[in-house]
Amino acid sequence: RVSDFDYDLVIIGAGVGGHGAALHAVSCGLKTAIVEVAEMGGTCVNRGCIPSKALLAAAGRVRELRNTHHLQTLGIQLGQVSFDRGTIAGHAENIVTKIRGDMTNSLKRLGIDVIQGWGKLVAPQKVTVETSKGDKTITAKDIILAPGSIPFVPPGIEVDHKTVFTSDEALKLLSLPQWIAIIGSGYIGLEFSDIYTALGCEITMIEALDQLMPTFDPDIAKLAQRVLISPRDIETRVGKLAVKVTPGSPVVIELADAKTKEVEEVLEVDACLVATGRIPFSKNLGLESVGVETDRRGFIPVNDDLAVTSNGEPIANLWAIGDVTGKMMLAHTASAQGIAVVETICDRHRQVDYRSIPAAAFTHPEISYVGLTEPAAKELGEKEGFEVATVKSYFKGNSKAIAEGETDGIAKVIYRKDTGEILGVHIFGFHAADLIQEAANAIMKRESVHTLAFSVHTHPTLSEVLDEAYKRALSAAH
Ligand code: FAD
Repeated sequence: RVSDFDYDLVIIGAGVGGHGAALHAVSCGLKTAIVEVAEMGGTCVNRGCIPSKALLAAAGRVRELRNTHHLQTLGIQLGQVSFDRGTIAGHAENIVTKIRGDMTNSLKRLGIDVIQGWGKLVAPQKVTVETSKGDKTITAKDIILAPGSIPFVPPGIEVDHKTVFTSDEALKLLSLPQWIAIIGSGYIGLEFSDIYTALGCEITMIEALDQLMPTFDPDIAKLAQRVLISPRDIETRVGKLAVKVTPGSPVVIELADAKTKEVEEVLEVDACLVATGRIPFSKNLGLESVGVETDRRGFIPVNDDLAVTSNGEPIANLWAIGDVTGKMMLAHTASAQGIAVVETICDRHRQVDYRSIPAAAFTHPEISYVGLTEPAAKELGEKEGFEVATVKSYFKGNSKAIAEGETDGIAKVIYRKDTGEILGVHIFGFHAADLIQEAANAIMKRESVHTLAFSVHTHPTLSEVLDEAYKRALSAAH
């Protein structure tokens, strides 16, 4: 399209965000190049979503097959169940290799130039890539920065990548230490606690805030604790800060009260997983060459169109997407942002609707949500002058869940009392990650529980858990 430039679009970073943007760009006829310093697929494919779900698949099967009471109810008898750690790890590695290969092939097949090396801005609309054969400078009408994120390790914690490690190493499942401390009870900490306990490890979960799973709706966190934490004999330290972690045998963890910062306990464990969140990977991107400063934590500032900003003003033809923007750091957010930016570049202005982006923890059972928690909805209601109502329905009353023997679960719907508009949906239970999609679509369309109560759901399916909640909301309105 633009003959003055080498490319219409250059993307730095071939994670899910960069990859999604590249595929959409070629489908819109843009001449596109993507720059990647490491493996294709970024965090999600190599060190995130994909290997973790492969390990969780194995962990889930082991857990299911060892639940002899449940199997006997279904008329199934099994001998002893055993597993091989190396094969489980190998399976995760194999699917990573396969998906990474598929991604690389899709880029090549579509004629996208893949440039291997470190990319940085050197001027507006100009990128230099440090390749193994020397520097290569390319120009593009538009540039998208998609460099992703890396694990955050709080001060005082020493990572030796063997006994004290982050998810990067944990996903390789090189060993199964007997006693593992997990610092952080967000979705990464939770998913690993699910994997490790299924495979026979003992866990102590450490959380600095005053509740476990602090980002989840309080009702869901409470139930999840009853099902995922207590019966699995996971020890917890809530409101405790790991102020010093020293690798070795044993790993020594000094725990302080999160408020007073006074050390109260010293734990000695076999290993420690640091799951304390992720930070943007925005160093050495040449941002200064275009007058951009990251925020205090390193996120690249963007406006609602995802244009990179300098002192609040958008810079023409420079965009950022994915984890580096700090907006709901999830794979599907990154690719949705990439697609939205490409649409805007092609003069079809589009923004991402973050309200309707669902999220999930793939524990057994799963946790999922979209929209606001009850406290956040109430805060919004107070500000904007509307009342909030909530309704719950339970998996134990759902025929499919009963037939499956998966009755530990709840769906909670939060909505505006006056209009019925759904503000948030939270599900804990069997297949919650799939069930949430219907709610995400409803939130995107600003649908009302009162209307949704008349949508017909297949019987018998788990989706009737939401159907039941909508119907309860309708009867409450009558
Ligand atoms: P990334 O995937 O991090 O990709 C960025 C790429 O840019 C990398 O390949 C990097 O090498 C490259 N790069 C960086 N700087 C440069 C440079 N200067 N030059 C060239 N290349 C560069 N999300 C979900 O939605 N669902 C899940 O189930 C899920 N599970 C997860 C489990 C774990 C253990 C972890 C750690 C994360 C998980 N995530 C999940 C989060 C998800 O992986 C990220 O949100 C997603 O990968 C972000 O995509 P991105 O494109 O922004 O960045």
